[in-house]
Amino acid sequence: MDAKSQGVSEGVENSVKELLGGLDFETTAEIEVPERLIDQVIGQDHAVEAIKKAAVQKRHVMLIGSPGTGKSMLAKAMAELLPKEELEDILVYPNPEDPNQPKIRTVPAGKGKEIVEAYKQEALKKAQARNFFLFMLVFFIVGYAAIEGQIIWGIIAAAMLFLVARYMLPKEERNVPKLLVNNAERKTAPFEDATGAHAGALFGDVRHDPFQSGGLETPAHERVEAGAIHRAHRGVLYIDEINTLTIESQQKLLTALQEKKFPITGQSERSSGAMVRTEPVPCDFVLVAAGNLDALMGMHPALRSRIEGYGYEIYMNDSMEDTPENRRKLVRFVAQEVRRDGKIPHFDRYAVAEIIKEAKRRAGRRYHLTLRLRELGGLVRTAGDIAKGEGASVVRLEHVLAAKKIARTIEEQLADKYLERRKDYRLFTTEGAEVGKVNGLAVIGESAGIVLPIIAEVTPAISKEEGRVIATGRLQEIAMEAVMNVSAIIKKFTGRDISNKDVHIQFVGTYEGVEGDSASISIATAVISAIEGIPVDQSVAMTGSLSVKGEVLPVGGVTQKIEAAIQAGLKKVIIPKDNLDDVMLDAAHEGKIEIIPVSRIDEVLEHALVGDGKEKLIGKLRQIARV
Ligand code: ADP
Repeated sequence: MDAKSQGVSEGVENSVKELLGGLDFETTAEIEVPERLIDQVIGQDHAVEAIKKAAVQKRHVMLIGSPGTGKSMLAKAMAELLPKEELEDILVYPNPEDPNQPKIRTVPAGKGKEIVEAYKQEALKKAQARNFFLFMLVFFIVGYAAIEGQIIWGIIAAAMLFLVARYMLPKEERNVPKLLVNNAERKTAPFEDATGAHAGALFGDVRHDPFQSGGLETPAHERVEAGAIHRAHRGVLYIDEINTLTIESQQKLLTALQEKKFPITGQSERSSGAMVRTEPVPCDFVLVAAGNLDALMGMHPALRSRIEGYGYEIYMNDSMEDTPENRRKLVRFVAQEVRRDGKIPHFDRYAVAEIIKEAKRRAGRRYHLTLRLRELGGLVRTAGDIAKGEGASVVRLEHVLAAKKIARTIEEQLADKYLERRKDYRLFTTEGAEVGKVNGLAVIGESAGIVLPIIAEVTPAISKEEGRVIATGRLQEIAMEAVMNVSAIIKKFTGRDISNKDVHIQFVGTYEGVEGDSASISIATAVISAIEGIPVDQSVAMTGSLSVKGEVLPVGGVTQKIEAAIQAGLKKVIIPKDNLDDVMLDAAHEGKIEIIPVSRIDEVLEHALVGDGKEKLIGKLRQIARV
């Protein structure tokens, strides 16, 4: 579909093209996706280089970084790079000398299955010969007994013979080895994800046998189960949140790393499996350990130093610079995710542009794109599911916008609830004018904005010596600082001294988790309005930090705050001029509010105050400011 038939203006078309890094395509079906997983990794160039090197040299790797930035993807990619030719199968055999120490043998990949098959055939042949012999014997006994007229005794004798043969004589199947690790069908070296694995899953186990003797028991070697460390032999063992492994497990892991083989024994002490201990089982794997910074703390020091000394430690990027090249990579990312999912339709260019906008928004940093790509991938899939549900053949802008509503973070959902509740109680007004009351804006967590009404009242000081700043809630410190800055400004600009006044500041309905550092221009405005008795326009929201000199400084989360203001039904929003480039409103919010960038407090007042006295006050402020 071209721009015209979608009713898209030239201006929008240009900005879409810019978002797509200049790429021209109709849907992501046209975008080429590299074959190797390592080449699909986006924005982690140093990690990719290190993984490539580590794969050649078989080094261990530690990946530190936020969730969803590609750690397990890199580990998987590393397995693809390891030589497949070196893979082996591992077999476990019974040990006639010591049944509790089964024997371990390795053979080239694919051979293991053949060996087990050959043993089975052999056992089958022997069993058939035995059964034939047995049958003939029974036949003769019963026949002879019949001739002698003793048929009952004949049947009894035959039955006993049968039982002895069935349970007492050694069975050939009991000698068939077990294929512990089978690499016959592998196209690449193994990748084993042992995140959150318990000891048994990690180091192997020997199952319990309820019948421990008397010919009914399962032979020990058959009860041996390989662990992830063994299945990862000649491949990659990946463990995320490595610090959550018990110290004992980390110690064992270290031994396995050093020895490159590790015997399997029953993990639960009271089980009959605990008596069994195999010969050492090969486990020559490359360890890719992952986690966040805390993981380093919780890690066994010896294990960490082993990786440090013999491998690479890599820090993952959370975001990448917002360049046309990187935007093009994100276009490819959308194509990759669609292909990987396999069930959702491809995206058209407007839908992709919206995803890239979202990547800008989520970066939380100016001129950057987020690299928390698992979350972004989640958005791609949700949009895809919505489109598919509608029977659409491509994912369009409207589907991405709908998906964004669904795929909201917990913080954003919380903010929604918060907003509803506050609207119910009319905690803030969106029209008219009031003295000393300002609609500030704040963020919860990292991702959600809320309207944070602030009320200031100025009264003569109770204490004779000096006035105090009295603020409710946890924002006391921020309020103090903001008021200190304002009082300097007020004193300088209006000549009034508020140091002999008590300033009460109330943050209406605040609760845990609200970040208030960006509320200082709101506090300043509320206090100035209260002192001068000039009302504040209640259809205005604002955010910004204030310097002692009266400059408005940039703050975080501007986009989310503006969205909160729009949802609350406010008409104008005042933001720091330096934040203007951070505003990344999605199509659903664009044009819904007047955005006023400011660089000084007098501009804030100009837009926020109404009624008599305003011009005079601002005039005075400016006059003094110029001096
Ligand atoms: P982590 O292990 O860091 O938590 P994953 O590797 O499991 O993250 O990432 C989950 C998914 O998100 C991947 O399978 C991939 O689809 C996507 N993804 C994450 N990071 C990247 C990246 N750097 N490049 C491309 N895709 C990525």
